[in-house]
Amino acid sequence: MTTKSDSGDRGLSRRGFLQTGAAAAAWQAVKPAPAPQLSGSPAPFAPGGAPTRLSEHLWVYPDTCNVYAVTDRNKALLIDFGSGRMLELASYIGVSGVDWVLHTHHHRDQAQGDHKAVSSRVPVAVPSHERHLFEDAENFWRNRRINHLYAVRNDFFTLTRNVPVAASLADYDTFRWGPYEFFVLPTPGHTIGSITLIAGIDGKTTAFSGDLMYGPGKVQTLHDLQYTYAGMEGVDFSVYSLTRLLERKPELVCPSHGAPLLNPAPGMEELIRKLSDWYDYWRGPTMITRNRPIAVSPHLIAHHLPTASFYAIISEAGKALLLDYGSASNTSFLIFKDWPDIHGRMRFLEHSIDTLRSEFGVKSIDVAMPSHVHDDHINGFPHLVRHHNAKIWCFENMRDILEKPNGRNIGCLLPEPIRVDRTFRHRETVKWEEFDLTVVHSPGHTEFQMAMFASIDGARVAFTGDAFFNTPARPDDGLRHNLIYRNDVYSDSHMQSLRNILEFEPNIVAPGHGSPFLLNRTDVLRFEKRLEQQQAHFETLLADPDVNFGLDPSWVHIYPYQMVILPGQSRPAEVRIRNHRPTTMQLKITLVVPDGWRCVPEVRQLSVEGKSVGAAAFEVSIPTNWPVRLERVALAADVVADDKYLGQIAEAVVDLKTIG
Ligand SMILES: [Zn+2]
Ligand SMILES: [Zn+2]
Ligand SMILES: [Zn+2]
Repeated sequence: MTTKSDSGDRGLSRRGFLQTGAAAAAWQAVKPAPAPQLSGSPAPFAPGGAPTRLSEHLWVYPDTCNVYAVTDRNKALLIDFGSGRMLELASYIGVSGVDWVLHTHHHRDQAQGDHKAVSSRVPVAVPSHERHLFEDAENFWRNRRINHLYAVRNDFFTLTRNVPVAASLADYDTFRWGPYEFFVLPTPGHTIGSITLIAGIDGKTTAFSGDLMYGPGKVQTLHDLQYTYAGMEGVDFSVYSLTRLLERKPELVCPSHGAPLLNPAPGMEELIRKLSDWYDYWRGPTMITRNRPIAVSPHLIAHHLPTASFYAIISEAGKALLLDYGSASNTSFLIFKDWPDIHGRMRFLEHSIDTLRSEFGVKSIDVAMPSHVHDDHINGFPHLVRHHNAKIWCFENMRDILEKPNGRNIGCLLPEPIRVDRTFRHRETVKWEEFDLTVVHSPGHTEFQMAMFASIDGARVAFTGDAFFNTPARPDDGLRHNLIYRNDVYSDSHMQSLRNILEFEPNIVAPGHGSPFLLNRTDVLRFEKRLEQQQAHFETLLADPDVNFGLDPSWVHIYPYQMVILPGQSRPAEVRIRNHRPTTMQLKITLVVPDGWRCVPEVRQLSVEGKSVGAAAFEVSIPTNWPVRLERVALAADVVADDKYLGQIAEAVVDLKTIG
């Protein structure tokens, strides 16, 4: 971008600013701004220049990033903030104050002056997936791994100090201010949590796109597009984001670096093409925009390319029932799975629904059902509820996990609660549209899994989640399964699951990962044998003859596992016991809390019958004057079972503040 250093208007050169002659002509109607009366020359480490008017209610100021000002009468809203100098230039753009600062992403060049906004009582709104990198920036720095650096993503461009955040800009939501509606389009790429804000301004659909693109066919950096070691994730995401933005037909694109772009489509298409070529040069896995669901039969659609496969059963009326609906691609799942950041949340990007509508006649997403509670299978569910009015149905034991995910510390949970509309009992059959759906409990991979059966287009289909996979480690293994102790798995769980599935004699299996396949008897027999072998291994390896004590890390656990308690508050906490013995167990339990906290009662005694569960209830309270030194503390349960002192064998965490 060019700036006239000491010319009369001290603003951006209009010629350098606008991309084409036609664009320049379109802007002729806008009067040049009067010369700014700035108080003296800018201080060292502050930008010079003055805001340029793009149209009646839109200005841009070239700070450490472009700061855009949208005006409504005598107030302005800023998009990104740079050093914060725009606060001093408010009168220059004819407003008396700034109502909001909205950020497209968390980089320091966008936000390094935010403390000025905060001290001037100007609220700051940030992308919800980057909120912790503003308000908890200092904690980010305490925990960011630097040695053994493989997580190379440029979150090193995070602010050095915490910035209080007034609001989150949630994906696919709308932020309203005055007459303007800013639609929040998730546009990961330059950063993983980046957003583009789209609003109608002075008659033009205007997109504030952060650093998604610099100019026609250009990005400012490639290094920001690498998240993992030698990865290409940001390139894949940028192509996705540009494609989605293009579909919304912006007439003016306002980037954080580079010049605002009128008639942006050709330049965006050029960038999509060039980034796709760059991706293909490295021969990465399939890009999100190339993933497409396929028809298995007229009423059954499958998509096996995202990490977790999902399925759509489509009724004659055009209603769809989705079995699972997770990440848009393997890449978009793995970057969260392998990332060490404690606040990082798996970001959901809408995918495939446009294809279901345009190619497969889907008119609405009526119901979504999880095969099991794992995040890779369900992280699109909150979006389906919020933006597609889908109902959520599930097997009965999943309800508590979905609605209160903070309750348990088990594998792969999505932290966002999902409200359940109806549950199914073991072996219950329900009619949905013209289909009979039967659900059974299918433990093993996790206790919180179902298998669902339906006759679709003449085939007897079993939706089996992660009960087993058609990818044997060795050819003679038949089907393959996995074992994750953290998921509440017991010695006979997998076998129980297989029996429940075989009882319905399915011929097509629609698994949770990979493509649908025909179930063959030889493979099933081999698989059954392997499950028997697994049980034999448990018995030879484990010391306790009641082997489940050696498989179940949560046989004693505190519920809920994650609590938020502030000084002056109390919360109920239960210690839950799964007695894997055939005989009654006598327990004596106390909660170990920080000095100064109260726990009532001090000790609980209870007996839990053989092969059953029991619970001891406590109330934990924090005195009003307790000095918060740490934001998270751990509690433990000290346990005596059948006169044997086992010690602090269960734990939970208490957060004394919340993020986001
Ligand atoms: Zn940036
Ligand atoms: Zn799973
Ligand atoms: Zn899975």
